[in-house]
Amino acid sequence: MELEKMYETLGVSEAVYAYGEKVLTNLEARFKSIDQTAEYNQAKVLSAMQQNRVNATHFAATTGYGYNDEGRDTLERVYAAVFHTEAALVRPQITCGTHALTVALSANLLPGDELLSPVGAPYDTLEEVIGIRESKCSLREYGVTYAQADLLSDGGFDYPAIRASINERTKLITIQRSKGYATRPSFSVAQIGELIAFCKSVKPDVKVMVDNCYGEFVEPLEPSDLGADMVVGSLIKNPGGGLAPIGGYICGTQECVERCAYRLSAPGLGQEVGANLGLMPAFYQGLFLAPTVTAGALKGSVFAANIYEGLGFPCVPNASEDRHDIIQAVTLGSREAMVAFCKGIQAAAPVDSYVTPEPWAMPGYDSDVIMAAGAFVQGSSIELSADGPIRPPYAVYFQGGLTWYHAKLGILMSLQKLVEAGIVKPP
Ligand SMILES: *Cc1c(COP(=O)(O)O)cnc(C)c1O
Repeated sequence: MELEKMYETLGVSEAVYAYGEKVLTNLEARFKSIDQTAEYNQAKVLSAMQQNRVNATHFAATTGYGYNDEGRDTLERVYAAVFHTEAALVRPQITCGTHALTVALSANLLPGDELLSPVGAPYDTLEEVIGIRESKCSLREYGVTYAQADLLSDGGFDYPAIRASINERTKLITIQRSKGYATRPSFSVAQIGELIAFCKSVKPDVKVMVDNCYGEFVEPLEPSDLGADMVVGSLIKNPGGGLAPIGGYICGTQECVERCAYRLSAPGLGQEVGANLGLMPAFYQGLFLAPTVTAGALKGSVFAANIYEGLGFPCVPNASEDRHDIIQAVTLGSREAMVAFCKGIQAAAPVDSYVTPEPWAMPGYDSDVIMAAGAFVQGSSIELSADGPIRPPYAVYFQGGLTWYHAKLGILMSLQKLVEAGIVKPP
């Protein structure tokens, strides 16, 4: 068959290809449900663009101060319409997800206030932002304290502990939707909604921010539909659709977003300044594609779990679980297996496919780390990528894929390399 031959050209053997096809026959219903969510979210994005009368003049570049930048202002209205919020801040001046979260936190917390995470430890990079790990310019240095309620051992919310952690100084509650690179489960939007409702029942005027990274468009609803005052994320993950070369977003109440704008630029200037530098076509078109790009990445993660669980490797989420983000963890059990897996992902890339990933000592990590990515946008993790620290249980975190077919090839190539290394018997 032509297709099989093409996969052979790319380096996937007949046996690996056939195993992939066998696994796929059981995934029809799963894929259909992913497609239905994508269809709904596509309509949501389209409707937001139509309501805001997006037109070609909005794609023009602005420079300097960027006063009267209709393209930028309309894009922010489109994001607000998609996330059903009063306001949005969406800009290339927000350099990454951590920056967006930092702006949202530091704009809405003042000296003497307390930040609470009711879902255990936050994402690695936020430890320095908050001051859990000492850092210059952390919130802690500015007199903002931090409290944390850990999750129960089954990954559930510890409601009594959360209630006990909310006090008169608790100003903002931060909820991370995706597990990121932790071992806890990711939360559904419904679970986040319940947690928000609980926190607000304990303290009605408390603000809730959701770190929405990796979760956008995975479900029909977003946390802002269920009471979050702010949802925050990166444009080089899901909502940039693979086309945004930089950027972050904060969608939320007028009150919260206005403060974010003053924090990002300067008090008094706010949302009025910030040239778009010619990035509007990528931001609009990326958002337009984001629902289907996210669906492709989701299919890849479901496929990976089914491929690897079928070979005896534990997967989080497991082969049959519902998805709340695009990240798939596969426990491979050895350094050699992690290296082989990442070699396969790299070999499947459209960019840098000829390079060989090797474990490396990275700042901030206590063990070597291996990373595979051949991306059009540096570090973009909506593009096919895999990484993980080289230490027990030797798990790789796999995510992205701008198209389902690319994600599929990446997973088949990873298996091919495991077979070639003699770690997995030809299936
Ligand atoms: C990626 C990520 C971040 C940080 O985003 P960067 O763009 O890497 O700075 C924060 N939180 C979560 C859950 C993430 O997945």
